[in-house]
Formats: sequence, structure tokens, C-alpha cells
Amino acid sequence: MIEVKNVTKSYGPVEALRGISFHVAAGEIVGLLGPNGAGKTTTIKILTGYLQPDDGDVTINGLDVLTETRAVQAQIGYLPESAPLYPELTVQAYLKMMAALRGVPEEEQVARISEAVYATGLTEHLTRPIGHLSKGFRQRVGLAQAILHHPSLLILDEPTIGLDPTQIVEIRRLIKRLAEHSTILFSTHILSEVEALCDRVIILMNGQIRADARLSELAATSDAILVLNRAPKGVEHALRRLDGVRGVERIKSLDGHPAYRVLGRPGDDVDLCPAIYDLARREDWPLRELRRDVRTLETVFNELAMAA
Ligand code: ATP
Repeated sequence: MIEVKNVTKSYGPVEALRGISFHVAAGEIVGLLGPNGAGKTTTIKILTGYLQPDDGDVTINGLDVLTETRAVQAQIGYLPESAPLYPELTVQAYLKMMAALRGVPEEEQVARISEAVYATGLTEHLTRPIGHLSKGFRQRVGLAQAILHHPSLLILDEPTIGLDPTQIVEIRRLIKRLAEHSTILFSTHILSEVEALCDRVIILMNGQIRADARLSELAATSDAILVLNRAPKGVEHALRRLDGVRGVERIKSLDGHPAYRVLGRPGDDVDLCPAIYDLARREDWPLRELRRDVRTLETVFNELAMAA
């Protein structure tokens, strides 16, 4: 659905995008995660045809964003970082204007507006001026305008920025519902947002893609955690001699028992636990806990940030 190849973009001396490539398939919900200034908004503006890249190709549903911009925009629902809402217009008047701008035929406008308003929970606010709505509800209006024309792809730039925790939960729920019918790409700098919403994450740092993977793939590691009731002699030495082990670290366990992280080889998908369990049985170690380690998105993100 989205195909991005070697896209670069500079603003004068600032290299905002340094040759990024990625693909989003139909039906996916993908988070574009990155710290401030990583290039998320620039990427989104290029995808939606509001900014031209210096180089590279972008196609959406097989259409070239540069040369077939109008046709592409007709297939996209776009929520910009700060949606250009008109505070004096009522929700209804604004959505009517947007439906007309999006080319929704006159006779279908009422039905499309009702549908969008229902989907975004705005039914009771139709006649209120947008300027009188809370930020969370204004964001819903932004989402409502994005789905008026039944887009197959929704592109949302920081959809929960500036909202309070309750509003964040509501908007996330809404995005999940919208994902039942549309492919969604959204940008965020909030790790928990990606964990709450996405199947896949693309991590952008300093204008480059540093990771592009399903969340489960990022979390997987071949490391194991071993906790013993007490530490017999030679534990670390014996663990190090196991096949596939590249090192052993002493770590803190929550309840103060001796604990070790047994490091597998990077890229290896070997579960070390069975071999560690056999060793513990053979050596008669007082086993308390043995499990495969998982990394959180935060760990992955911090590792990438440190390596940058
Ligand atoms: P944020 O989370 O803060 O919105 P972002 O990941 O969306 O950041 P961009 O807004 O794409 O990042 O900015 C990428 C880089 O390009 C930053 O260094 C930014 O300062 C710079 N930049 C963005 N827009 C312009 C502009 N119009 N003129 C000059 N530099 C710009």
C-alpha cells in the first residue's frame, strides 16, 4: 500500500531525511516512532503530497505521490499535527465544508458526515462551534474529517499530542476501531502508544530508519534469566561453558537472590533455558526461576539512541 524508496529531504543545511525506505502492507497498523526532530512530520508530509522530497520515490496504492498527487490524496485520510480547524464553525458546518472539498457528492454528504460523526463519538456535539470543544474533541473532529471520504489509508501525525490521559485512551480506542477498515500509519514519540496500537514499528532517528520490525521480533532475545536460592561455587563458569552462551552477567533480582543474565549470541534464536535447566539439575543448583528474557520497546529504543 505504501512504498517508500531512498527518500531524502533537506531544509537548507538540515538533513531531515537521509535516504529512508519502508513498506506498509494493506491492513497493517504501523507506528512511526522517533524523538523530536527525527523526521516524522517530514516523512508524513511527503507521503501525503504536501512536501516534495529532494530524491527518492513514494507510491501509494501504486500511484506516484509526486505526479499523481490529487489521486493519492483522494485515497488518504490525513490528520496533520495541528489540524487546521476553524474555531467559529460548528462541527457540522466544518465537516460539510471538508466533505465538499474532498469531492464527496452533494447527495452523499449527509450520510458520510453522520457516519464519521458516529464513528468518532461526536454526535452530541454537531451544532457546537469547534472553538468551544475540548482539545480531545477537537482531535476527534480532525479524525472525523480524515475519514469522511472512506479512505483506505489513514495517516495520522501525533494523534494524541497534548491530550490528557483519558482523552488519550479514547483516541487510541477510536484509532483501533478505525483500523478495522483502514490501513493506518501514525507518528508518535510515545513508546506506550506504539505498544498499545501497533503490530509493527518503524523507528526513525536523525533522519534514518534504525529499526523496522514487528513488536514481537524486537522483544525477542536469546538471553535467559536464571535466579537461584543461593549461589553455589562455579555457577558463572559452568554457564559460560554451555553451547551458544556468549557471556554471563550478575544482575539484581527483585527479592535479593543471586540472579544471572545468560547471554545468547546476537541473531541466534536459540532458547538457552532447556540447557540451563539440565545443567542446574546435574549440578544440583537450588533453582528459583528460569525464563527467557524479553526486551521492552523502551530498552530497544534506548539501545538505538545510545548507538546513534
Ligand atoms: P517533532 O516530533 O518535534 O515534530 P519530527 O520527528 O516530526 O519532530 P520533523 O518536523 O520532520 O521532525 O523535523 C526534522 C528536522 O527538520 C528537524 O531538525 C527540524 O528542525 C527540521 N525542519 C523541519 N521543518 C523545517 C523547516 N520548515 N525549515 C527548516 N528546518 C525544518
